[in-house]
Amino acid sequence: MNELNPVMLAKGVFINNAWRPAASGRVIDVYAPAEGRVFAQIAAGTAADVDAAVKAARHAAEEGAWSRLTATERGRLLSRLAVAIADHAEELAKLEARDTGKPMKQARADIAAASRYFEFYGGAADKLHGETIPFLAGYFVPTERVPHGVTAHIIPWNYPAQMFGRTIGPALAVGNATVIKPAEDACLTPLRLAELAAEVGFPDGAINIVPGLGEEAGAALSAHPDIDFIAFTGSPEVGILIQTAAAKNHIGCTLELGGKSPHVVFADADLDAAIPVIANTVVQNAGQTCSAGSRLLVERKVYEEVVSRLNARFASLRAGSPEMDLDLGPVINAKQKERVESFFAKASADDVGVVAEGLVAEGVPAGGFYVPPRVYGPVPRSHILATQEVFGPVLAVLPFDDEADAIALANGTEFGLMAGIWSTNASRAIRVARKVKAGQVYVNAYGAGGGIELPFGGMKKSGHGREKGFEALYEFSTLKTLIIKHD
Ligand code: NAP
Ligand code: MG
Repeated sequence: MNELNPVMLAKGVFINNAWRPAASGRVIDVYAPAEGRVFAQIAAGTAADVDAAVKAARHAAEEGAWSRLTATERGRLLSRLAVAIADHAEELAKLEARDTGKPMKQARADIAAASRYFEFYGGAADKLHGETIPFLAGYFVPTERVPHGVTAHIIPWNYPAQMFGRTIGPALAVGNATVIKPAEDACLTPLRLAELAAEVGFPDGAINIVPGLGEEAGAALSAHPDIDFIAFTGSPEVGILIQTAAAKNHIGCTLELGGKSPHVVFADADLDAAIPVIANTVVQNAGQTCSAGSRLLVERKVYEEVVSRLNARFASLRAGSPEMDLDLGPVINAKQKERVESFFAKASADDVGVVAEGLVAEGVPAGGFYVPPRVYGPVPRSHILATQEVFGPVLAVLPFDDEADAIALANGTEFGLMAGIWSTNASRAIRVARKVKAGQVYVNAYGAGGGIELPFGGMKKSGHGREKGFEALYEFSTLKTLIIKHD
């Protein structure tokens, strides 16, 4: 795993701190999106591997060394993993960049964030505590936060290293044992991170990883009768399957789904500050960020000004390979490239104009999945560019007339993940921010993917439950009340 050989065989499924081949004996080809060719293979885990991983986790959660650690000891292990990730940052960033195609600077930022998740939750592990409740005379009633037990984590390919830290960091901090099903398109860093976790001393069974196809390993994990909670990040469609599987076992789940997050730009906004941030939030990670600011709602009187500034900004943007380290990389695979191009084709068929555009850099490897970053405007309100998540570097600009119109437009999609309000009128910015339905609303800023400390998650079809921040510790634990009678 340490060498980026042209074709490397990942070691298998990771259970009880050891690698084993998948029970199926099959492997899955892994593509380097920057080159459009296979550079690795991963094990194709199936139901048998999931079952072994859940058994290992169950033992770790209830009887094994993991279950006997104090909160402080768990926190120390998480902190040690944070340091190990930082110590291996360059190796991990190269692996992440090769697997996802993202520019090296983005991959380095992602690895730093993965480390930071373990640092944050390492420090938080022994700070979660219960309360005491006043009750009848002669009773003492303390509450205690207890882990669910075995938590299942199904994550996407867009930020594999970050997602790994974000989802298992809080779960481990409160004492769950985990089984992770990473995405088949990009899961090499999670596999390597699990290995690092074993090296820093995580006991057997605390972290188990079963790579494989969603419909095989993912479906088997979400339906397994002996898991206690599911944390899912991915598409709204698969989210329905996950929630259905959770319902059948009567367990809880968090769903972190898609978005069509708006920037709301009023005429009094500081455009010098706003435009670079707005451009970056849809271009970062080639737009494959759930919280990408992919809709730009602009007060009509500054529409032309905003579009002309975007035009200047996008003209300098370039897509390239990780090593070229430009503004964005390729998208993840051929299917995603086709998806983005189908939005381009639909816009062209419907006469929706391109108002700003960057380029694919000269000299990118042939066969890579590159698309140019684009801005379309004015996009009709019901057009798919204004309503559907593209998951590519595509920004839709829509003019609005007044504050009420801006709020209606901001809330006018099925999603509610994030929003950014841009105005120098503080009262208005706060008023609008409080009316927009989204899990996070920024004012004069926007942090797609950022903020380990900040509770994050959706409203409406962007999902439910909160990850990140201290709040995640509540999601990954449950409350137990002891009612004690005494004389
Ligand atoms: P996806 O197809 O839903 O995949 C997400 C995960 O689910 C992958 O590990 C996938 O495995 C697995 N999966 C697929 N089918 C499954 C099934 N039948 N049962 C159980 N698991 C299954 O999503 P994606 O296309 O990779 O990711 C893009 C979506 O994720 C976008 O909508 C984006 O907005 C959302 N997202 C949300 C957040 C957030 O925090 N809100 C963050 C990142 C991404 P395979 O890949 O191996 O098939
Ligand atoms: Mg890949």
